[in-house]
Parts: sequence; C-alpha cells; structure tokens
Amino acid sequence: MVAELTGMDEQTKSLLARPERVEQTELSIKVGEKTTTLPAYRVWHNTARGPAKGGIRFHPDVTLDEVKALSMWMSWKNAIVGLPFGGGKGGVTVNPKSLSLAELEQLSRAYARGFSEMFGQDTDIPAPDINTSSIHMGWMLDELEKIKARKEPGAITGKPIELGGSLGRTEATGLGGVYTIMNAVKSFGITGRKVAVQGYGNVGFHAAKFLADNGFKLVAVSDSKGGVHNPDGIGPALAMKAKKDRGSVKYYPGKEITNSELLELDVDILVPSAIEDIITKKNAHKIKAKLVVELANGPTTSEADKILGEQETIVVPDVLANAGGVSVSYLEWVQNRTGFYWSKHEVWDKLKLVMDRAFSEVYNFQKSSELSLRGAAIALAADRIVSSMKARGWV
Ligand code: GLU
Repeated sequence: MVAELTGMDEQTKSLLARPERVEQTELSIKVGEKTTTLPAYRVWHNTARGPAKGGIRFHPDVTLDEVKALSMWMSWKNAIVGLPFGGGKGGVTVNPKSLSLAELEQLSRAYARGFSEMFGQDTDIPAPDINTSSIHMGWMLDELEKIKARKEPGAITGKPIELGGSLGRTEATGLGGVYTIMNAVKSFGITGRKVAVQGYGNVGFHAAKFLADNGFKLVAVSDSKGGVHNPDGIGPALAMKAKKDRGSVKYYPGKEITNSELLELDVDILVPSAIEDIITKKNAHKIKAKLVVELANGPTTSEADKILGEQETIVVPDVLANAGGVSVSYLEWVQNRTGFYWSKHEVWDKLKLVMDRAFSEVYNFQKSSELSLRGAAIALAADRIVSSMKARGWV
C-alpha cells in the first residue's frame, strides 16, 4: 500500500489500509426494450476529518477494487488541501457512450436511489468524475431531494448553476492543475515551456486552455481515439472543435500520433489527464519530460513511479495536482450551506490560495525529508487524518 506510512503503529496502518464502508448494488435501467442491470459501488475510505467526499464515474472498467483505491486517494487529497472532508468514491460499470440521454438520466437517478441513505451534506457528498458532469449531478440531486422531501443542495457538488452549483467549478480541476504547474516550474527551475496533455475531457481541455493562456506552448494533445503533435503550437479551442465536429482531437492539423507516442515526446512538461495506469514500467524510461503533473487519478503505476524517481523526473502527484476540483466542490458546499454566493473570480482567487498553500506545504516537507513529492504529500495527509482519528479516540 503506502510505503510512506512508516513510523505508524500497526493498528493505525491497518485502519488506513481498509475502507471504512463499502456498499454495492445492481442498478436496473431500461435500455431500448430490455432491462439491463449494472454493478454500482460507493465506498467511504475514512471519515475522521468530515463527511465522505468524492466523485462518481461511469466507465466500463470500473471495479470495486478500483473504487476502493480511488476513495483512499480522495482521503489523501482532501487532507492535503486541508478540506474538512473524508475520502469517498463511487462508480458504475457501464459504457456510458452506448446510452442515450434518457438512459443516462435513468442511470443517474437509479444511482442516487441506490445509495440515497449514504448521501447528505453532513454524510457523503458526491461530485462528477470520469464521464459524469453537472447534468448527471442535477438528475441525482433532484432524485435525492425527492427522497429526502426537502431541498439540500449541499448534498451534491459539481451540479448545475441553476440548482446551486458554483461558478468556476467546471474549470476548477484544470485551472488548479495549472496553478500547480506554475508553482512546480518556479520551485524546480524548469525553463522550457513545451507541454503535452494526454486526455481531452473536462480536465485535459481546461488544463490546455489555461496553460495556453499563461504562456505555455501546447505541442501535443490526445483523447481516447488518438492524438496530434504540432511543434508550432495547438489552439485549445480549435482542438476541442475538432473533437466535437469530427470525433477526435487527432484531426487537428499536425502529425497524428498515438497516446503512447504522446507520452514519449520531447517536451518539458507532461500532463496525463485521462485515466489510470498509463505510465508503466514499459514506458517510464522513455519519458523525456522533466516534469510530470498528474491531473488524472493514478496515471503512474508504482513500478513506473520508481523508475521516474531514479531518472530524476519530477512527478507532482495526483492527490496534490488535481485537487482543484474538490477544492471548488468545497467552496460550492460552503456557498450552499450559507446561502451566500461568490463570483467566478472570487472562487478562482480562493482556489489559488488553496492550491498555492498545499503546494508549498508539500514542497517544503519534501525538501526536509528523503521522500518524493508523492511520498511527502501522502505522509502529510496521513498525519492529518491520524490526528483526527486520535482526537476522536479511534486510535
Ligand atoms: N472527481 C474529482 C476528483 O477526483 C472531484 C471530486 C469532488 O469534487 O468531490 O477529485
């Protein structure tokens, strides 16, 4: 599990190794004429610091083990950025691209019903993740509020603005990632500005956009269908247009490349923003970027992480780099609970403070230790969680 948890007694270690609560069910929805059942999960890793918080993904590869791992990463992430939340995660094993909008609505409502007893602003607060967005959160909130027979907008974040969503939430993971990239570039003295972004969903697209806005040179982007390399620079909005109109960013002018070729390009900064386990022991030694900033959750396997460490590639870990999303989820939850709403720029200014502080805490801790940035981030998080567990008398 987590080599960084050294010095911790066995009881605490085993409490952190296992999730606190695991629920699974089968959701039935009508697809065309047929009723289909889909496995669905919701896991709380640890709630010592506050209600469980974390997204829900719809993906064919979702398994219970994956959701458990993702819930643990949410515990670390929430603690690193100092949010009063524990870690949670949910998922449905489904290919959402094969479902119509009406079927996705059925699925979202069925998910909210299936786990309604867990969800609430003081218990467990879901949000979007891979293949889910504000539209799904809107359906889920509506279903949940019907069951609870009251309005409770703080029970779900990343929801539509019309239902109490926060301005600036959609862009938050990408923007928070760019604040982190700017901190890393400064702290580690990275001089080059050439960037490759893998993944062009909500996170990858917004990262690309804010990178370009801040003077970085986007030279390669990709999505699940393939990628493009253009040393003259790629316009993020036009790449999105290629994806919308023709099905993939690979149709953007330039040389068509595969996802694995993108990882190995001669760039200064590599930003994996799609799925898990794409940097492995097979390709880690081929990575030329000096800085890898993980905007996806879990893109680097532990073997690859070791190789990157040995070749002195700096890796800013997911639990720090992509925490901008949940940080604005927290701001959304605060706005819902107080009924007082901020402008987009107020939200983004607060996000910057959160990301800058978390980066400098992890960076300073790493400098004073033998740990990698990931090791330092997790050790810091675990320490905060254990303090809360102690204060509760759990350990
Ligand atoms: N799914 C996002 C993540 O992995 C956001 C979670 C949230 O806002 O609760 O961090």
